[in-house]
Parts: sequence; C-alpha cells; structure tokens
Amino acid sequence: MSLPPCPQCNSEYVYEDQALLICPECAHEWNPNEVVEDDEPTAKDANGTKLVAGDKVTAAKDLKVKGSSTVIKVGTKATIRRIVDAKDHELDCKVDGYGEMMVTAAFVKKA
Ligand SMILES: [Zn+2]
Repeated sequence: MSLPPCPQCNSEYVYEDQALLICPECAHEWNPNEVVEDDEPTAKDANGTKLVAGDKVTAAKDLKVKGSSTVIKVGTKATIRRIVDAKDHELDCKVDGYGEMMVTAAFVKKA
C-alpha cells in the first residue's frame, strides 16, 4: 500500500506512525482518516468567473423558475448560500424578492 504525499509540501517520503502519517521533510503530521474536505464544490458564472458560497450574483438573463410561471428578471440580485455538486441548478441562492431557489451558475454573473 502506498501512502499519499504530504499535503503541505508534497513530499513522497511520508511514513506511518500508528494512526498518523508523518512527513520527514516538513514535520507535518496528520490523520489520513480526518482529511479535511478542501474540494468544496465551486461553480463558474456566465463569464467563467469562479463562484463560492457567500458571493453576490445577478441574473445574467431572465430565468424561468422550474415548476412555476415566475420569471426572475435579468439583473436580479442574489446571494449564494451554498454550491452543490451538480451539472446545473448548482447554486442554492437567496434571490432578492423571490426567496430561496436553486439557480444554474452559467445564468448568473458575479456582482
Ligand atoms: Zn511535508
């Protein structure tokens, strides 16, 4: 079984000491079972700008709301509450005047 490289310095000379993995080059110690999820889902807006939770965005075009006749008008502001790992409707947004809904990242622009 091969050990993962050191998450701090990328050293390959990591060794195991009981439950911990230890890097001899930078002295970093970590528990491989408690690896922090650092690959939070991100999304890209209409311009390809990276979006993260907490970003403010505006609708880049009129957006039809699934299952209703509501249309979110272009320019409507929204705040991203969270980003989910999905092909579309990946932004869980609080949309000004409309409430919470899932929005496709490619249809918004970072404000
Ligand atoms: Zn290291």
